[in-house]
Formats: sequence, structure tokens, C-alpha cells
Amino acid sequence: MKFHFLTIFPEYFGVLDLGIMGRAVKEGRFEVNVVNIRDYSTDKHHKTDDYPYGGGAGMVMTPDPIVRATEATDPEHKALRIYLSPKGEPFRQSMAKELAGEEELLFLCGGYEGVDERALELAYDREISIGDYVLTGGELPALVVMNAVSRYLDGVLGSPESTVEESFSSGLLEYPQYTRPQVYRGLSVPEVLISGNHAEVDAWRARKSLEITRERRPDLLDK
Ligand code: SAM
Repeated sequence: MKFHFLTIFPEYFGVLDLGIMGRAVKEGRFEVNVVNIRDYSTDKHHKTDDYPYGGGAGMVMTPDPIVRATEATDPEHKALRIYLSPKGEPFRQSMAKELAGEEELLFLCGGYEGVDERALELAYDREISIGDYVLTGGELPALVVMNAVSRYLDGVLGSPESTVEESFSSGLLEYPQYTRPQVYRGLSVPEVLISGNHAEVDAWRARKSLEITRERRPDLLDK
């Protein structure tokens, strides 16, 4: 799979050299292509923003550098082109799994007050939001979506079951996890987890999942 990021801050994507993502890139599990939108500005100062028509606070990203950068990066429109936006469809685990089936994803990271609507009409397929809050730019949202998607790609996680037995995959939040030591500052690991009885462990985990979901996210149970 190939991930393209269109941005005015390419430096953000340095984090992809780290941890599980960094290892996966080195092993060729997926490719990353970071494109600087400024390189497609015909303005002599590489400007990519201007004042909003109709007035109001802040600046808006101009359409031409975005459309030209998009077309140059994905000339045959092979990629699913996504604009990260607070106005987009809410991002969910099920969407991460669905997007992992694409060959290429292209993320447009907005900035300032957003992007001229015509760039989206002309060149984008989908708008996705990572939550009901506003960030300064689309770089972190694009990395969030890409990270969640990449966990479904072959060889990215050490153990493929990790995406099966975790929060949201079953529609519930995950049960509590414990590791060594068995007693830490007077707190013991629940007895059942060291019993060796797998059926009882599974039953305990299922019960805990349900309890935690009921307490913290009852809306998930309604679904
Ligand atoms: N004026 C816009 C609005 O009210 O919807 C917010 C613009 S925001 C300051 C700048 C950029 O950050 C957006 O163009 C978008 O790319 C990104 N962004 C901010 N919050 C986001 C969110 N919750 N999900 C996805 N992208 C977001």
C-alpha cells in the first residue's frame, strides 16, 4: 500500500521513522510519499493561502497549488483522495479496516481556516474527521488515520491477532491488561489470569469488556 501526504509542513512526517511505523517502512510493508504543496505554487514567494471571500478571520488555502499537487502525485486517480477536516465523516475503527483495502490513499492536510471548496470539488473523494474538536492543521489527523489503517496491513504488527482482540473490534472496549510483576505496590494481578484455565480467562475478559463499556461508553452497547 502507498500513503501520500500533501502538506505545507513536510517535517511533521519525520515521526514515521519511529517505532512500529519506522520498522514497517524499512521492511517495505507500505510506502510513504510526502509532497510539499508549496512546490506547486506559481507565486514567487510560494504562497499557498489568501484572504477569504466574504471576509472573516484567518486565511484560506488557495485551490491551484492543491489541485496541481494532487494531479501530479496521483495522475491517474488511482488513490482514494481524502481531505482531513472537522466537517468530515467521523473516523472509526471500521473505517480504518475498510480503507486498508485500498491500494493507495492520498491525504490532503489543510491549514489556516481550511481549503478553498473548489479544490475539494475538483479533486477529492472523501472528507474525514478524527473527532469533534479543531486542530491547527491536518497533519496529525492524517497521521492518526494512516496509523490506524496501517495496523491492518500484512506484517506491520508482530501479531495479526492484535487487531482482533482490542477495543472497538468487537464493538466493545478492551478488558484490563496485566504483565509482570504479579504483585506491584500491593496490587495483585487478578487470580483468574494466572489460573491457566483459558475458558475462565476468556469469560473474565468478556465480562470485564462488557462492564467497562457499560461504564465508559454505553453508546457502544446501543449500537
Ligand atoms: N475553519 C475550519 C472549520 O471550522 O471546520 C477549521 C480549520 S482547522 C483550523 C485547519 C485544518 O486542520 C483543517 O483544514 C483540517 O485539515 C485540519 N483539522 C482540524 N481539526 C480536524 C479534525 N478534527 N479532523 C480532521 N482534520 C482536522
